[in-house]
Amino acid sequence: MKYIEEFNNPELARRLLDDIHATVTRPWALMEVCGGQTHSIIRHGIDQLLPEGVELIHGPGCPVCVTPLEMIDKALEIASRPGVVFCSFGDMLRVPGTDRDLFRVKGEGGDVRVVYSPLDALAIARRHPDREVVFFGVGFETTAPANAMAVHEARRLGVRNFSLLVSHVRVPPAIEAIMCSPDCRVQAFLAAGHVCSVMGTAEYPALAERYRVPIVVTGFEPLDILEGIRRTVRQLERGEHRVENAYPRAVQEGGNPAALRMLEEVFTVGDRAWRGIGVIPRSGWRLSDAYRDHDAEHRFSVSGITTRESGLCRSGEVLQGLIKPHECAAFGRECTPRTPLGATMVSSEGACAAYHLYRRLGTGTPAAVRATGEATPVG
Ligand code: SF4
Repeated sequence: MKYIEEFNNPELARRLLDDIHATVTRPWALMEVCGGQTHSIIRHGIDQLLPEGVELIHGPGCPVCVTPLEMIDKALEIASRPGVVFCSFGDMLRVPGTDRDLFRVKGEGGDVRVVYSPLDALAIARRHPDREVVFFGVGFETTAPANAMAVHEARRLGVRNFSLLVSHVRVPPAIEAIMCSPDCRVQAFLAAGHVCSVMGTAEYPALAERYRVPIVVTGFEPLDILEGIRRTVRQLERGEHRVENAYPRAVQEGGNPAALRMLEEVFTVGDRAWRGIGVIPRSGWRLSDAYRDHDAEHRFSVSGITTRESGLCRSGEVLQGLIKPHECAAFGRECTPRTPLGATMVSSEGACAAYHLYRRLGTGTPAAVRATGEATPVG
């Protein structure tokens, strides 16, 4: 399949790895921002093929994982109400709230539906004008334009029974928060290519300059990631800190102008809480005042929610790259994909789910892997 198989080529991967090994002279800690990149790295064993001391720290770029518990509980409360059709992408249904999840609400009689687009939810609202249809708008800059478009369409068509429960987050403020943390070990970032395909790269040079970190926009296939790492370690070894685009087939400097216009029309930037991390200034979007009638939080007046996190779950530390998933005592014991205690074990982009799926059950990298470079083959 074009753009998939050609970016899995083992021979090209070997050449990139050779270049990385030839470049690196000392330890470096790089953070891949996106959970999709984390899954690709763990799936293909890329971290195990790198030179000794080059560490990939898994970042907070899993939208399901960082949706705050209070927002999950609000979703559960709204979905439980009579007359509501609550629509969501499938990966939110098993994310644990304080005492249940959306599957439980569905099992108890709530009308919870999995859709593949926010426009599907809008279509349900048009077919059922007697019902309140709510779409759970979760995600980074990648999913926000489509959700903005759904609300825009609802207003244009006069569909008054459609609303959005908004939990959108933005990557650049999260990078800033990571760099400001006293525990930060990150020396460079592999920025999320799909986010930059929407937003462009304009927000990154100031971050690279202020924190003196290389930021390399990186894709998701094995060769994309190796190329991102290659460029990153080359900058680190030279003492540089620039923004580079290693994903030019998808990312333009100016992003996607139509998507940016839609975001600006519908959303307003504001502070937002990230699950396990806390409030990050200007890190989220909410509906602008012009679209307030379509804001589910406003429409359903959900308040008085008291949240309670699992005492065992350390997903906040996982999301900040402070521990690896298998360093959590509950990993693979109390917490599995079937019995998740935290969102990072549920989401298809969660680091805990990746470690469980690809059987990264212990710490360390097998010595034999480093000696021979014969980890899981790329591709
Ligand atoms: S393994 Fe489970 S309990 Fe531990 S941090 Fe991950 S999600 Fe939380």
